[in-house]
Amino acid sequence: MIIVWFRQDLRITDNAALSAAIALSDDILPLYVLDDDVARPIGGAQRWWLHHSLLALGNDLLRLGANLVLKHGKSEKIISELLEKYPVEAVYSHKVYEPNAIKTDCEIQDICQEKHIEFKQFSGSLLVEPNKINNKAGTAFKVYTPFYKTVYPLIGVPEIIPAPRRISQKTKFKSENLEDWGLLPKNPNWAVNFAWKPGEKSALNKLDKYVAEGIGRYQDDRDRPDFAATSQLSAHLHFGEVSPRYIWSYIKQAEIQKKSITRGAEGYLRQLVWREFSYYLLNRFPGIEVENFNKKFDKFPWEENKDQLVAWQKGQTGYPIVDAGMRQLWQTGYMHNRVRMIVASFLTKDLFIDWRLGEAWFWDTLVDADLANNVTGWQWVAGSGADAAPYFRIFNPTLQGKKFDPNGDYVRRWVPEIASLPDKYIHDPSFAPREILSEVGVKLGVTYPYLIVDHAWARDKALKIYKEIK
Ligand SMILES: Cc1cc2nc3c(=O)[nH]c(=O)nc-3n(C[C@H](O)[C@H](O)[C@H](O)COP(=O)(O)OP(=O)(O)OC[C@H]3O[C@@H](n4cnc5c(N)ncnc54)[C@H](O)[C@@H]3O)c2cc1C
Repeated sequence: MIIVWFRQDLRITDNAALSAAIALSDDILPLYVLDDDVARPIGGAQRWWLHHSLLALGNDLLRLGANLVLKHGKSEKIISELLEKYPVEAVYSHKVYEPNAIKTDCEIQDICQEKHIEFKQFSGSLLVEPNKINNKAGTAFKVYTPFYKTVYPLIGVPEIIPAPRRISQKTKFKSENLEDWGLLPKNPNWAVNFAWKPGEKSALNKLDKYVAEGIGRYQDDRDRPDFAATSQLSAHLHFGEVSPRYIWSYIKQAEIQKKSITRGAEGYLRQLVWREFSYYLLNRFPGIEVENFNKKFDKFPWEENKDQLVAWQKGQTGYPIVDAGMRQLWQTGYMHNRVRMIVASFLTKDLFIDWRLGEAWFWDTLVDADLANNVTGWQWVAGSGADAAPYFRIFNPTLQGKKFDPNGDYVRRWVPEIASLPDKYIHDPSFAPREILSEVGVKLGVTYPYLIVDHAWARDKALKIYKEIK
């Protein structure tokens, strides 16, 4: 018997652990453990996703002949109990590159070793192993472009492991009931507007459609939140419903058939390597999930301002692009990348609120919340990260809105109370003449908030602080 421990690899295609186990054993125990007793249990929006993703995986496995076994508790304890109960020869899983998981794996390794059981961890959630990549000096990269140039040629065209046709499972295992885990929100059901379709099948269909219809425009349109120009595969990738190897290979093959690599596809692959870089940093610089990468930022005088934090979370800052982003996040569990940068810059450089509080809010509300990408995204914008945005790059939320949502379509969608403002003022309601505001029924301070902070003032203050800590 072999335990296949599913983690951030909720798929059957390109699943090295599952395929290796099937080749060796006629009694497969597919296992998923919900472990909430960790430093960072998964957030609310991801619990919703996980529920549906496990349903999809369970159905796929059942179709192939195996029951998915669900257990709730500490991973090491659950696996240890299974090893006591059943004649297990090996435990196979994919590596998870997060500090919590690495600690747990060491414990499971010890448990298995004591019992002379193999614990094998496969690569499959990343394109390259973080500990294998170094710069010419033999140390870790801190800057993206040289990392990208080193990594890109190493990836090639990964060979994809096909989905198995059958899984043999001789033993009848007892599973907990997914419904009893209470992953779905009730009273209120805040996920009512989530239009996502978690699961492998949906991920592969989405990729297929995107490569056929969307990727060509990626490089030109990826910064436009008013267009649906990006792939929205991030949550599927986080849960491993599709592997980055699969995506890479799929795009490369499509391009090889056309005998060229388009600007859009090249830009997309570059962005996938950002994901690799985030994991690389998390692994090579342990602690960055909680501490500033750049220690100079330990002196940053973050401010505690609960009211402003709540206004930001609720999309009530008076800056339409910020409010649109925060409301998109709340209502859909997702936010466009450009807008993530704008709202993160606003929280840290206009409100002087610690990036960790923003990161925590994203953690709870994003369906694609991902420790590596979230922490590095926040630190990059705050200026405290590796290869971070230079400290003087302080986004002006109004100008960013005008540049990347030029017709105001994105703002109108998420901030309907100002939708009737003319284009000229849609990103700038506080500068709209009184007659125009009253004509369209906008009452500042009543139907839409006044600016909670003056950007020009905040910018000057930020620059002074940065100068001091530099
Ligand atoms: C403050 C902040 C927080 C973020 N938090 C997360 C997070 O928790 N989870 C997450 O997956 N991404 C995060 N990102 C990165 C990025 O915003 C999302 O990956 C992207 O918006 C997801 O949409 P998409 O799948 O349509 O991306 P696409 O543009 O279609 O990109 C394809 C894939 O490449 C990867 N990718 C794209 N951009 C980045 C990036 N800048 N850094 C790392 N990987 C990237 C993602 O896996 C993405 O799915 C964050 C960015 C910022 C600025």
